[in-house]
Amino acid sequence: MRKEIKLQRRKQLWEKRRSPITGIGLFATLPIRAGTPIIEFKGRVIPWEEGAIMLLRGANHVIKFDANHDMDARPQWSPAGYVNHGCYPNCAIKKKRGGLWLTSIRPIEQGEELLIDYAFDLGEEFEPCRCGHPRCRGLMLRKKDWPKLRKLMSKVL
Ligand SMILES: [Zn+2]
Repeated sequence: MRKEIKLQRRKQLWEKRRSPITGIGLFATLPIRAGTPIIEFKGRVIPWEEGAIMLLRGANHVIKFDANHDMDARPQWSPAGYVNHGCYPNCAIKKKRGGLWLTSIRPIEQGEELLIDYAFDLGEEFEPCRCGHPRCRGLMLRKKDWPKLRKLMSKVL
């Protein structure tokens, strides 16, 4: 029994394939329990100012590393970079042993697409969302910036 569990643990929990949301996405190959590290993000750790410029230019593979640094986590260094945005995600990026891991935040069914909330802020280039969730926010904008956006819109219109 113990041996079986160990073998299962060694199996890759994700696979890369075409996503109904956009481009390539990551999908669960097995049911995954909440709080499981699934795949590590890899890439260049850069000063946050450099990350901010990349985001302004439309990059969507820049993730927060620590208070002063971002990570340029494009998929050429780790397939973790393929993870798509969802407004009601099943994963988040968590720190583990000094690295950043795509980690489940609720139980995930086999075959489900792995999604995180990109949570772009108003100063960044954010895109329309096609995550397909019935309560999709329509934009990849972090929740706390919506009141600001509504205020801006009311001034423009
Ligand atoms: Zn959405």
